[in-house]
Amino acid sequence: MALMRLDLAISAVRQASLAAKSIQQDLGRVAELAKDDRSPVTVADFAAQAIVSSILRDADPETPLVGEETSAALRTPQNTALLELVTQAVSEALGHRTPEDVLSLLDHGGHDATGPEYWVLDPVDGTKGFLRGEHFAVALGLVSAGKPTLGVLGCPNLHTDADQSPEAVDGDGVIVAAATGEGCATGGMTGALTQIQRTACDGLVRVCTSVEAAHTDHTAVDDAMQALGREWTGVRLDSQAKYGLLARDQADAYLRLPRPGKRYVERIWDHAGGALVAMESGTTVTDIHGKPLDFGHGRGLEQNTGVIAAAPEIHAALLTAVGASA
Ligand code: AMP
Ligand code: MG
Repeated sequence: MALMRLDLAISAVRQASLAAKSIQQDLGRVAELAKDDRSPVTVADFAAQAIVSSILRDADPETPLVGEETSAALRTPQNTALLELVTQAVSEALGHRTPEDVLSLLDHGGHDATGPEYWVLDPVDGTKGFLRGEHFAVALGLVSAGKPTLGVLGCPNLHTDADQSPEAVDGDGVIVAAATGEGCATGGMTGALTQIQRTACDGLVRVCTSVEAAHTDHTAVDDAMQALGREWTGVRLDSQAKYGLLARDQADAYLRLPRPGKRYVERIWDHAGGALVAMESGTTVTDIHGKPLDFGHGRGLEQNTGVIAAAPEIHAALLTAVGASA
């Protein structure tokens, strides 16, 4: 049953990833059509959510969906053109859909993240990267009793070849998928996935952080790595592709450290899918205090602060290093 649902999730993420990537490749045209520079991401967000929602609702109607987006903005008269563009993108992916179908699919993602089990979707994670023409991810998780039990990341611009730089954005795209107790698998946007497992981190420590300065305290990352006393290198990229790199053994740590004086509650869709693929590949994932991420408190990770995800050999020392330099 779990693996059938994993296949379903992979198929949904693949279709949404391809749709979002084709909108990203057409940024200028979409912006012009909607007369707004920020609208390409909006079209991609809504279209990706509607695509995943349609596939999940058809095959797994009993399980609610917590999606980042709502239909509210698209229902206003000034956004008719935007709704039309979203409807076109969804129709290209799934076959003919009406604007009303799209609104109803978006509303299917309006669950409040309570109850025993729910899908959690970030349709375009890494919006800023998407708009820069860089990395973004379609991230889907299934949360059961507060814990992610299935996770799928679509990282449409990553190279499948792990020897290529993870910061390069001209790849054909990567899928990373996992189910609790089943390990983690990866491959391209089409074709079979192969099982992967992390190897020990005994040399250079490759540390992922956000590109955006507002999303993590980069000075604290530098201080913590100095306190750790290991040779290290930074890998900056947007989205949950960071968790994907941990799972694929292309990185050893992902640090998401809150900025001083800023209380930010992480959103569950920014971590559910990613945290599971990382954990199932043998990565340890906690918040900065060493607590497991707790997805059972609504749409925010209310019980957690920041994220420290790392190879098990260095995770405890990183917690200490981050604590010592805070
Ligand atoms: P990243 O790609 O690592 O820059 O993370 C992208 C995510 O950061 C977005 O999906 C937002 O939900 C989230 N975000 C927005 N504001 C903040 C903030 N102040 N601190 C941490 N994360 C944030
Ligand atoms: Mg996000």
